[in-house]
Amino acid sequence: MRRIGIQCAARRDRGFTLVEILVTISIIALLIGILIPTLGDARRQAKGSVCAANLHFVGVASAMYLDDHAGAYWPYYTQDDAGRWWWFGYELGGPGSGTGRPLDKSRGALATYLGSTDNRLQCPSFPYASGCYYPKFAERSASYGYNLHLSGRLRSEFVDRSARVFLFADGAHFDFGDTLNEGHYILYLQGASAPSGYGHFRHRGQAQVLYMDGHVTPQPLRGPAYAVDCGGRAGNLSDEKGSSFVYGL
Ligand SMILES: [Zn+2]
Repeated sequence: MRRIGIQCAARRDRGFTLVEILVTISIIALLIGILIPTLGDARRQAKGSVCAANLHFVGVASAMYLDDHAGAYWPYYTQDDAGRWWWFGYELGGPGSGTGRPLDKSRGALATYLGSTDNRLQCPSFPYASGCYYPKFAERSASYGYNLHLSGRLRSEFVDRSARVFLFADGAHFDFGDTLNEGHYILYLQGASAPSGYGHFRHRGQAQVLYMDGHVTPQPLRGPAYAVDCGGRAGNLSDEKGSSFVYGL
């Protein structure tokens, strides 16, 4: 018994050899190497899911708006003497210019139906922290683009194609050279060479798209990209054949 005790004490005193430490460090590094990309993928997937949930919510708010307005889609904006009513908020004294403009998000066309000023109109993958983002308004407004071709039209026009024409999508707007603004509208343009409102393919190369019937699905860019890439490429949305049918044209 005494001899075993001496052996155990000797073993405890020996500690780890350099080889054992190096092997342990290698295994830990390997596990971290496996885990970090997995966590990154999970995080990106979660952002895509939050974005899709936001758009579902916006779809419900839009349906309620249409029920209360004889099925007519809202204009992109209207103007009065005191300011501009954008669909996503009211700009007192607007339209202004430059950055940090005031915006009352409780007074946009959909505000009543969105329920609060924390209104789910901001995609979690929009590049707010990027140096190429130019914030027009004092607070985040909407990084989802409204299909501008629907403005002033009736829901009844689209009964047989409501699953194929989009209402909102991940958007980005360019009107100041190499910077991008939140994508308040999306407009179809031949090619993708002019500064305008485009679909923004920021979820691992895909844009989340809300269709008029309320379903949400991601889609890739199928045509040319606009010159500026900030947080993802930008360009026209399209159906699987590359057609502009999705704009309701
Ligand atoms: Zn998104």
